[in-house]
Amino acid sequence: MKIQEADAKSLLVDQGLPVPAWEVARTPAEARTAAERFLAAGADRVVVKAQVLVGGRGKAGGVKLAGSADEAERVAREILALTIKDLPVRKVLVAAAADIVKEFYLGAILDRASRRIVVMASSEGGVEIEEVARVDPGAIHRVEAHPLLGLPDWQARGLAFAIGLGGVHLRAFVSIAHGLVATMVADDADLVEVNPLAIVREPDGNGGAAEHLVCLDAKITLDDSALPRHPELEALRDLDSEDPADAEARAQGISFIRLDGSIGCMVNGAGLAMTTMDLVKRAGGEPANFLDIGGGARADKVAAAMRLILADPKVRAILVNIFGGITRGDEVARGLVEARSVQDRDVPMVVRIVGTNAEEAGRLLTEARFETAASLDQAAAKAVAAARAVEA
Ligand code: GDP
Ligand code: MN
Repeated sequence: MKIQEADAKSLLVDQGLPVPAWEVARTPAEARTAAERFLAAGADRVVVKAQVLVGGRGKAGGVKLAGSADEAERVAREILALTIKDLPVRKVLVAAAADIVKEFYLGAILDRASRRIVVMASSEGGVEIEEVARVDPGAIHRVEAHPLLGLPDWQARGLAFAIGLGGVHLRAFVSIAHGLVATMVADDADLVEVNPLAIVREPDGNGGAAEHLVCLDAKITLDDSALPRHPELEALRDLDSEDPADAEARAQGISFIRLDGSIGCMVNGAGLAMTTMDLVKRAGGEPANFLDIGGGARADKVAAAMRLILADPKVRAILVNIFGGITRGDEVARGLVEARSVQDRDVPMVVRIVGTNAEEAGRLLTEARFETAASLDQAAAKAVAAARAVEA
């Protein structure tokens, strides 16, 4: 689950990380009031930032500076009217504009290959890290945290030196790196990213200026499977920004992950769903999704799964593979017949149902003129052929 920058920043603050104060505004007027407060407190300018669950807001016009309350209201109105990468902006973050000296990248991810938290840093901050990885992979430095001991100081210092932060900011960097790992662990996150981590110049109160290291942006992805352990984090889910298919799948209790291929898959059981995807690939096709309708699914759930699959315009054929144990084959067949009667897009479908009430299912499907298959290999081959026929 992705959460908004403002919420991610709160989680960083909970772990003691240095994040400049911010406010969230839903209207231009609220942004104005927030800006007035920051300006009155001594800020020269404020920054207004779109709260959407995608990166690259800066480039898309979603991050703007304003020198007065009037201007803050105006840029907030512009930003609130934006749609960034298909997501409408409904909130903005307002903060005192930082006087940036240099930007860095610092991120922690759960690396499934090494089964550890990996901390990554780069002196190429402010740009999307995927871009750095493509153009100059050597500019990204990584260290692994130990599962029990965490990130040893010497490794964090090594990262700091590697990105040119060995001087006065060394201790701050080490503490921030620890904070990222602490956030990963405390919140069961998959990703905690601060980009930019920035050296900023601030008045020191004696007419001079001092430089500090602060987290100017924050992106956190939480592990969905761990959310039941954090009911308070579930409240951070941004329903407005969620893919409607993901929301429906969750409401229906269906495990659904969209993929890039053209063969929609409806299966009961996670293992069988994975096997089905493998067989689709072996038959020369590409699955459009992973979908597990779960055990004991009734007709209405089958119909919901069908809606999810058909909502993806890339789907050219559907493969239904049900092994009836607790799930009754005839229930699934009824769901399929019902779903097809209301669907507005005619997509070829191949159905394989075995196990409980398979005969009854077969009869219903034949009556409704569904394409059936005796074996899973045959079902996969038929589905791939049907998709090719549509594409041709
Ligand atoms: P992103 O583009 O979605 O990652 O949004 P960011 O919060 O990272 O902002 C993008 C860029 O805007 C940063 O890399 C900075 O260069 C700039 N920026 C963000 N906040 C400030 C600020 O307070 N002051 C200044 N001067 N620039 C900022
Ligand atoms: Mn950023």
